[in-house]
Amino acid sequence: MKLKDNSGCWRCHLENADFMHVAFTCQKLHDYWFRVLSVLEDSFMVKIPFSIQVISLSLFELSSADKGKKLVVNKILFLARLIIARKWRSSEPPAIGGFLVEVEKCRNYEKLMAARGGYLSKWRKIWGVRPE
Ligand SMILES: [Zn+2]
Repeated sequence: MKLKDNSGCWRCHLENADFMHVAFTCQKLHDYWFRVLSVLEDSFMVKIPFSIQVISLSLFELSSADKGKKLVVNKILFLARLIIARKWRSSEPPAIGGFLVEVEKCRNYEKLMAARGGYLSKWRKIWGVRPE
């Protein structure tokens, strides 16, 4: 899919860049996506391969023991994509700090929902939080 009003990437100036390049594969986004996946791996103690399928469509599998973490990991990958969209025309890649803020918001929201739904122990297991 070609970009409608611009034939080049505004980050790295690659000519004839398409949507997939600007949103996912641009070399200036490489560090951002690498750090996003590192945060997910460290936060949830799971192994997530670095690939276009993962960062664009969340196509990855977790072990059966980690299946409960998949939904939250997918939500956070969505947030990482949203941050790209928020900085759509910026010449600089998104800062990882903004992503970490979104992860913390997600964590707090998930905790609130778990408390209301009576499944805080499941939330603690997914987020790696020890009982208080
Ligand atoms: Zn680029």
